[in-house]
Amino acid sequence: MNESTKLICTLSNKQIKAQFKLLIFNGRSRCPRCGYTKIRRSENRYRCPKCRLPFSLTLGTWLKGMKLPWDKLYLLLDCWLKRMSLDLVPEYAMFAVA
Ligand SMILES: [Zn+2]
Repeated sequence: MNESTKLICTLSNKQIKAQFKLLIFNGRSRCPRCGYTKIRRSENRYRCPKCRLPFSLTLGTWLKGMKLPWDKLYLLLDCWLKRMSLDLVPEYAMFAVA
């Protein structure tokens, strides 16, 4: 494989997480448990003042429990959407089907 054909992620984890936040909250932050909209940010998580429970950005989505960094998830989704081989992402070459 030619080195120039390898995919790299040019966005930072912070930029990617911000994009996912827009998609997940659809521009309106809300608690996934009770729907309360005045949630607070607490370090890397969110907290609902009504439930008093913390939650992650991915709670209530198919990404719940995800352990991948945002940039790696982005590359995986990008490969999947473009129907590209995982061979093009060096970190995922081990998952590529021969
Ligand atoms: Zn709540």
